[in-house]
Amino acid sequence: MSKGITSRKDDYSQWYNELVTKADLAEHSAVRGCMVIKPYGYSIWEKMQAALDKMFKDTGHSNAYFPLFIPKSFFSKEASHVEGFATECAVVTHYRLKNDGNGNIIVDEDAKLEEELIVRPTSETIIWNTYKGWIQSYRDLPILVNQWANVVRWEMRTRLFLRTAEFLWQEGHTAHATQQEAVEEAERMLEVYADFAENWMAVPVVKGIKTPNERFAGALETYCIEALMQDGKALQAGTSHFLGQNFAKAFDVKFTSKEGKLDYVWATSWGVSTRLMGALIMAHSDDSGLVLPPMLAPIQVVIVPIYKGDEEFKAISEVADNLSRELKAKNISVKYDDRDTHRPGFKFAEYELKGVPVRIALGGRDLENGTAEIARRDTKEKETVSRDGLADRIENLLADIQKNIYQKAFKFREENTTEVNSYEEFKQVLDSQAGFVSAHWDGTPETEQKIKEETKATIRCIPLNNKQEAGVCIYSGKASTQRVLFARAY
Ligand code: AMP
Repeated sequence: MSKGITSRKDDYSQWYNELVTKADLAEHSAVRGCMVIKPYGYSIWEKMQAALDKMFKDTGHSNAYFPLFIPKSFFSKEASHVEGFATECAVVTHYRLKNDGNGNIIVDEDAKLEEELIVRPTSETIIWNTYKGWIQSYRDLPILVNQWANVVRWEMRTRLFLRTAEFLWQEGHTAHATQQEAVEEAERMLEVYADFAENWMAVPVVKGIKTPNERFAGALETYCIEALMQDGKALQAGTSHFLGQNFAKAFDVKFTSKEGKLDYVWATSWGVSTRLMGALIMAHSDDSGLVLPPMLAPIQVVIVPIYKGDEEFKAISEVADNLSRELKAKNISVKYDDRDTHRPGFKFAEYELKGVPVRIALGGRDLENGTAEIARRDTKEKETVSRDGLADRIENLLADIQKNIYQKAFKFREENTTEVNSYEEFKQVLDSQAGFVSAHWDGTPETEQKIKEETKATIRCIPLNNKQEAGVCIYSGKASTQRVLFARAY
């Protein structure tokens, strides 16, 4: 393992790529735009999945599974949906290969599919086609279903975790009897995502709605959470869509209401993806490697023995085993790294790179004194402490680290959110410190587009509970009633 990684200051993008590969999270695969998620990276994703899955179930949802393939005709049924996804679809046209007689394996043209299949970029169409068979009356509603799956969007510019051609995600698809219920559901799931981002990932987020330009293809309203990365770029971390009756109309899904009236069903969909891994990495990590919030760290505490000779090793191992037991009893995941193939210094660097929140070193002198050296990954502070009450102390320390990295990220976001009142100021802030820029906008897609073309900054969201404030658009000078949040984004 080579230890050094490029510093964030020198090349943020290079730092990110090196960190992802050197910390054993993921690597590029033989397939363009598709990644291999390695065991350590996948174990973080599994912790994210477990926490989110519980939150979905606690809010009444169940998991189900729908096909990977979607008949092309389904796609065409919702006009804006197909338009939004058409340019990034992988299409299956044949179902067989053959030997051409010269030893070459080629596509068998006799095995052409009658109807081409799209590899799902999102599952609204196949799911609403299915819901047609599930829904007849108000008694069948609501349907609160989530699917954990992979999807494919043929992205041209890809980055590990942040934007890949195939990615893992969950997609919730719900059906409701009223508009109000569906809107409430979309808003509830946005809250769930924000709760997860802030309390598990320790990443502060802004909750808001997207402008029509940035809305999901086929939605009437897209709610989102937006996070700020350490290089001052924003990242859309999750979306929740109010789909109105668009998909019910496209797939003719009607229900009989309590009053005996026939009406189309109301819909939502919501998703977060492996992009959250990118958010987690970029929000907290430093030039020595990953910094993981304890709530999502696969290994929360590592114990490293420092010894001379077998006898000392045995005595230290006994202490380590006892401590491990005490920590496990508190549901803390602990690893005792007793490998004799690597030196302590090597192990220290490795766990630093992998973002293990707390490291405990046990040496000969600690044996004599009844002490241990504890080091926290977030601040890199080290302390020699008594072994009495150590498990309690570690438990508190983990909680403190979780809080500290959230507060650090929150402070960074506050310091990098700037209100501006002119286009000059806007461009100057974007070029000097970036971050979120709060500015008046005249509400037109034309102005939004012009600003995007000229500065690469997009409207990340119109924050929820935005205060109304009379002003003038920084670009057009027209009247505006509120500020919106701009940023350059991933
Ligand atoms: P959407 O269905 O477009 O609303 O996206 C749902 C979630 O997937 C959002 O949280 C996006 O940030 C995320 N996402 C969209 N495209 C990609 C991609 N190419 N790679 C990883 N995550 C993505």
